[in-house]
Amino acid sequence: MKRRLGFSTRAIHGDLEARPDWAPVVAPLYQSSTFTNPIGSTHEVLYTRYGNNPNQLQIARRLALLEGAEAAIFVASGMGATALAHLAVLRPGDHLLSSDWIYGTTHRLFQGEFGRFGIEVSFVTPFEQRTWKRALKKNTRAIFIETPTNPLLRVIDIEPIAALCKTEGVALVVDSTFATPINFRPLEQGADLVIHSATKYLNGHSDVIAGAVAGSEAVIEEVRKLMQVWGQALDPMAAWLIERGMKTLAVRVARQNATALSLAEWCSRQPQFAAVHHPGLPSHPDHEDAKRILDGFGGMLGVELKGGAHAAERFLHALTIAAHAPSLGGVETLVSEPRLTSHASLTPQERVRAGIPDGFLRFSIGLEDADDLTADFAQALAQL
Ligand SMILES: *Cc1c(COP(=O)(O)O)cnc(C)c1O
Repeated sequence: MKRRLGFSTRAIHGDLEARPDWAPVVAPLYQSSTFTNPIGSTHEVLYTRYGNNPNQLQIARRLALLEGAEAAIFVASGMGATALAHLAVLRPGDHLLSSDWIYGTTHRLFQGEFGRFGIEVSFVTPFEQRTWKRALKKNTRAIFIETPTNPLLRVIDIEPIAALCKTEGVALVVDSTFATPINFRPLEQGADLVIHSATKYLNGHSDVIAGAVAGSEAVIEEVRKLMQVWGQALDPMAAWLIERGMKTLAVRVARQNATALSLAEWCSRQPQFAAVHHPGLPSHPDHEDAKRILDGFGGMLGVELKGGAHAAERFLHALTIAAHAPSLGGVETLVSEPRLTSHASLTPQERVRAGIPDGFLRFSIGLEDADDLTADFAQALAQL
C-alpha cells in the first residue's frame, strides 16, 4: 500500500511528482484572464472565470488532499463558498436546517436570500442531538453546522448528526474555518461538504479574501458550474498567495494551537477575567468532546473581563501587540469585541443569555512569541 503523506508534506508538495530539470521550485503565477486554445478543439476553453487557471487548480488539489476529499474548489470569498455549496445541493421547495450558532453573514444569507430561491430555512440550537431529529422536515435536504463556534468555541460532535443525515438522505455541510484540516477533517466524520473561509487560516497572512469547498467530485462539479455563471472565480494572484500560505499551514496551526492554549491557561489564573473560553481548558463545556474529536484545540481564545465593556475598552487600549481588527487566522494576533461585531444585532441582555456578555473579547492568536503575548496581557491587566 502506498504510504500516506503527512499534512506538512501534503501542504507543501501536493501530489509528489517527478520534477523536470530547470523547472522553477515555486509555481509560476499565471496572471492571465485567458489562454490560447487549439483551433478546432471542442474542449472547454481555458479562461480564468471558469476556474481552470493553473493557480486555481493547484490549490484546489492541495486542499482536497488535506481534507481527504475527492475534489475541492476555491472561489472568491468564504461567503461565495457558502452560497454556492448550498445552491449546489438545494432546489426550490427544499428545506435547509441550520445551526443557529453560525457566522453572522451566513445567517443573513440563509435568512434574507434563500427564500427568494424558494428554499425554506429553519435554525436550531446545535448541542442536543435530539433537536436535529425533531427539526427535520419531509423536504429537508441539507443540514449546516459551523464548528468550533464563534466566539465561545463550542465543539459540535458531528458524527451522530452525520449518521442521521445518512439515514434521512440529507447532505451535511460543515463550515470548518476555525479548525482547518490540521485540527479537524469533517469528511472523515461523515460530512458531505466542507466549507472554508480561506481568508482565514488557509491563507494565513491577512492579505487575501477567498473561500473553498471540498467534497465529492460530483458536488464540486456542481459548485464549479455555479461559480462560472455567478462569477465567483478566484483571482490568480490570490490563488498564488494562498498556495504560498498553505505551505506553512501545518506549522502555523501547530504553533497557534500551542500558544493559544498556554495563554488560555495563564488567563484562567488571572482574577480580572470572569471567564476564559478555550476548548483545551478542562473548564470548557466541550473539553472531553474536543479531546476526542479534534487533533488540536485551535488558535482562538475568548476572555470575559469582569469590568464589562468599560474594562474591555481599557484593556484594548493598553495592549501593544494585538491589533484591534475583525477576522482571524493570520500570523498576527487580532482581537475583536463581539458586542460591536458578530453579536451587534443582539441586545445586551440577549448577549448575556448567549454567553457573550459585554466585556467579552475574542482573540485570534498569531505567531508572535508566547512569552511576549503573555507579558503584554499582564501589563494591560495591570492598567485596569
Ligand atoms: C470569515 C468567515 C466566513 C466568511 O468568509 P469571507 O472570506 O469573509 O467571505 C464564513 N464563516 C466563518 C466561520 C468565518 O469566520
